[in-house]
Order: sequence, then C-alpha cells, then structure tokens
Amino acid sequence: MRFPIGFTMAQMRHRNRMTRLGHKRYPTVLMLEPLYTCNLACLGCSLERHTGKLKDRMPLEKCFQAVDDCGAPIINLCGGEPTLYPELPQLVQGLIERRKYVLCCTNALLLDKKVFGVIPPHPQFYLMIHLDGMRQTHDYVCGREGVFDRAIAMLKEAKRLGYVVMVNTTVFKETEVAEVEEMCKMAEELKADGILLSPGYEYESVERDIFLTKEQIHEKFKAIREFSSKYKINATPYFLEFAAGMRELPCAPWSTVNYTPQGWKAPCYLIGERFIESWEEFWNDTNWEYWESRLNPACQNCKMHSGFEHSAVEEAMKSWKGKIQLAVWSISK
Ligand code: SF4
Repeated sequence: MRFPIGFTMAQMRHRNRMTRLGHKRYPTVLMLEPLYTCNLACLGCSLERHTGKLKDRMPLEKCFQAVDDCGAPIINLCGGEPTLYPELPQLVQGLIERRKYVLCCTNALLLDKKVFGVIPPHPQFYLMIHLDGMRQTHDYVCGREGVFDRAIAMLKEAKRLGYVVMVNTTVFKETEVAEVEEMCKMAEELKADGILLSPGYEYESVERDIFLTKEQIHEKFKAIREFSSKYKINATPYFLEFAAGMRELPCAPWSTVNYTPQGWKAPCYLIGERFIESWEEFWNDTNWEYWESRLNPACQNCKMHSGFEHSAVEEAMKSWKGKIQLAVWSISK
C-alpha cells in the first residue's frame, strides 16, 4: 500500500466525520513549526525559517493548543529542524497519545543523537527524510558537502531500527528527471516506506533562482508521471496530472494549516499575509473563497502539494472512475 493502512483509515475517518458534520472546509494536516532554528541553510528555505534562536522556540503547551484547536489528524513537524527542538520526545509522545500521525520532516543529520534510542519506533511516528536528489544535487541544495551521505546512512539505520521512513523531495530547476527516477529507485532499494515528490515553487521570501516556472513544472512532472507507477510515490494520480498540467484544480489552503512561532500563518504555508495568534480569528477571518480561486498573483505558478493534494482527492471522489483509480493507486505498491 502507498500509505500504511492505519494512516489511510485515520484520514478517511476524519473526512467522513467532517462530511457528516457538514463542514465544507477543514484541516487534515497541521504543519507545526515549533522552532526556526536549523543546522543547515538550504537554498530552497526562506531566511526566517532557519535563522531563529532556540530560545524563541514554541513552548510545548502552545504546540498542543494548536493541535487541539485545528483538529487535524496528521501533524507534520517542520521548522527549522525539528530534531533540534529539545522537547521533541515529549511533543511526539503527547501527539501519539492524542492519536495523531506524526511526520517528522528532518534533514536526518542528528537522528542518531536526538531520535534513535530516545523516541522509540511507533506506527504513528514517521521520519520524513529530506532528500532533494542524488549526492551532487542534494549537497548543492543543502549548501554543504556530505549531507547526502549522512542522510543515507541515517535512513538505513532508521529502517534497521524499525522506524517508518519516507523520503521527502522537492524538485528544483537543477533537478534532472532522470535523477529523480534514480533517487526513487534508490529509495525503494533502501526499503523507504514512501516518496513524497513536490515541485519547488518560488514564494515570498526566497529569492534564489532555483525554482521552476509553471511550464518547467509541467514538463518535469509529465516525465515523472510516466515512471510514477513503478515506485512508491505518495502523490495521488490526480495531483500528478495537475502537476503535469493535464488538469486544473482549485487550491485548498485550509486543508494544510501552518502554526509558526509567530502564530497561524494566513493564508497558507507559502504566503504569510498575516500571522494570527487566535485559531478562531485565523479560521473565521481568512477569505478562503478568494484564496481557493488562485486569483492572487502569488498563486499563479503554484503547484504545491500542501495546497492541492486535498483538492485532487476530492476531485477523484466525485466520480466512480476517479474513486477506482484512487483505490487502485492506494493498493498498487
Ligand atoms: S495557490 Fe494556494 S498554496 Fe499556492 S500560494 Fe496560493 S493559496 Fe498558497
């Protein structure tokens, strides 16, 4: 299966519950950024997301408050580098007790010191290892030599120890499609539990010229789509069609909400027009209809997984053909 059965069931239960309650919009994923401190300064990362001081990190209570307020079943721990968050073991434990699925997005450099032997493997705890290509590309994107080799060593060790491990890849301008396939092949050989592929998109505070234009995204994802069925790629068929320019979708920025050390980021993970402390104010006062329409100039080239995967699933669920395609995709690897 593309995702472990428990993960898929948790999402389905959440969707059914929200539908029963009559909610048209609801979050499924919380991108929780407990700190903006990092041990790398990757080219694709905004300055603010890796230069924060550890002392400015979010207290545990605020993390849990955000989790309880939004009610999403999937918590994506990012930042910053989450393994640098001193309270990570308590945070993960508290989330598992709340029956959440926890995806820890990490560069993997410190897994042996901060996770192995500290946070035990658990079916609700996933290590999402950042890998933006093979050695040369990944080290270039991370701005440091040796990061790729270290990440691979940690991935192997994590699998040996029994963790659920996924690979998290952003496709940049520099990334050759052949290299993406080489990396998918390698991830399968290393027994990674899945590969999350997303197109890199230039957003507000990242000014480097490494991001894809819409046409480049279409071109690369058309080619990626060709080989996607051979590997455990976690993007759904409709999302891959959207990324390849073969279908249009509305954005669903509310499906993946983002809580940062400055508060709820509105409207989405990429655009921080406002940072709001109160969940009610964030949820009720953001003009979701406007952001769904993608009329804002900042949305024109965006094909981000966080904005569109929910719409891709909803679109598939509208027809029997889509439902069958989704079901076959779920069990095909
Ligand atoms: S299209 Fe959606 S996810 Fe992309 S920038 Fe606009 S609101 Fe954010």
